[in-house]
Amino acid sequence: ESFEDCNFGEIIKNNIKLSNYGTPTPVQRYAIPTILLRRDLMACAQTGSGKTAAFLLPILHMIFQEGPVRSPQTNNRNNRKQYPLCLILAPTRELASQIYDEARKFSYRSMVRSCVVYGGADIGFQTRDLEKGAHLLVATPGRLNDLIQRGRIGLENIRYLVLDEADRMLDMGFEPQIREIVERSDMPATGQRITLMFSATFPKQIQELARDFLLDYVFLAI
Ligand code: AMP
Repeated sequence: ESFEDCNFGEIIKNNIKLSNYGTPTPVQRYAIPTILLRRDLMACAQTGSGKTAAFLLPILHMIFQEGPVRSPQTNNRNNRKQYPLCLILAPTRELASQIYDEARKFSYRSMVRSCVVYGGADIGFQTRDLEKGAHLLVATPGRLNDLIQRGRIGLENIRYLVLDEADRMLDMGFEPQIREIVERSDMPATGQRITLMFSATFPKQIQELARDFLLDYVFLAI
């Protein structure tokens, strides 16, 4: 059981080596093959379990597999900036920053560009960073809604949606904000996107979110 068994491409394999990752953790061992089958997933896993790599590695692999990743500045004929292909929602600035750092490590020496946005920090800086385009966006729900309302970000290209530490986001009162994002008219519907939820616990409120956001999902408890 090693990362070599995952059939990742050279870029990802190299970046796993550079990260000094040893063998896959249990959540990585079970979640990575499931996600690569393009199944929706509800995973109960704690912080420290290695869940960040468990979703980032297969998502990056699938983004690379879907064809050449174009420069975020020259996304299409109209020279329109790249809107995110992958959106990761996280409860806090700290967690969002950690996910962003891991995403940067695993996409090193690739065309994939990542951005992170969270509340309590200068929105002007984040807006200018988004203006350069991003394939992967890590966000806290409140700040993301703010940027959507200001017309700085569109969700129409999202193919991968991750809700990380979903129970903590609900504890912090983010449920209306999360629903506003996931139920927006430009967000591709279930079946048009892959949705992954991670949560330490699985109370009724999380079960309901899973029922509403996931399609025929795999349930994984570590
Ligand atoms: P996470 O649960 O995603 O917050 O990861 C907890 C910590 O474990 C992070 O510092 C990761 O970089 C590290 N980590 C994750 N997977 C592995 C692995 N397979 N081998 C070694 N370290 C890992």
